[in-house]
Amino acid sequence: MFNNWKIFENILGFIPSEQIKQKLNEYYKILLEENAKYNLTRIISEEEVYEKHFLDSLLFTKEFKISDQNILDIGSGPGFPGIVLKIFYPETEITLVDSNNKKVNFLNIVIEKLKLERIVAKHVRAEELARIENEKYDVVISRAVAYLDVILELASRFAKIGGQIILLKGPRADDEIKNSKNIDQKLKLSLDKKQILEDTGFGERINLFYSKKQSTPELYPRDYAKIVKESGKK
Ligand code: SAM
Repeated sequence: MFNNWKIFENILGFIPSEQIKQKLNEYYKILLEENAKYNLTRIISEEEVYEKHFLDSLLFTKEFKISDQNILDIGSGPGFPGIVLKIFYPETEITLVDSNNKKVNFLNIVIEKLKLERIVAKHVRAEELARIENEKYDVVISRAVAYLDVILELASRFAKIGGQIILLKGPRADDEIKNSKNIDQKLKLSLDKKQILEDTGFGERINLFYSKKQSTPELYPRDYAKIVKESGKK
């Protein structure tokens, strides 16, 4: 049973409540049981899942206050960060989307077994949902889904004007910014903050916080093939 809660306290500033700990333990159990079937993660040791997935999903909250926002997690996979956010901040309204049906089936198992409320998992491609859910969300978040210019284009339309897009990135975020051909300006986004987290044992993390200044121009998001073809990813 995981017991290094001190690391959560050191980073987040508080020790999770008993209810949160119990839900994380149950989540980990389901992840282990279902991992082979759904091909969810190569990280399976308890310590690594709690630190490299659960805690990593929350590092951005040191810079951004979560309360009762309506949040979209694009490409949630096994539920990072969306399910973890729901466990820690039950007052949020959360939508998880993933283009892989197996992942969505897994997310629904977790939602049901953990009795999570006001959270849904949708099997859909983000670029197909974007125009249907235009300006619906206070916060759009995404971790490890696509190169920066691609994920910004997928995410921007979902955010309300004045809303945030938060991208949980690794150490190459600066290169991705350089190679993004100012797509943020074209999408009417501005990069407000860059959170650089030193390597505390699970790699350097860079989280990017964008805000949406105006409606997304009609052109975006383009077809996925076109977005990827014109991406600055080398
Ligand atoms: N966010 C999770 C994490 O941090 O562990 C999963 C990351 S995984 C590398 C990327 C996920 O994004 C996959 O589950 C994939 O199916 C999903 N995905 C990729 N492109 C997508 C798109 N255009 N729309 C929705 N989901 C997408």
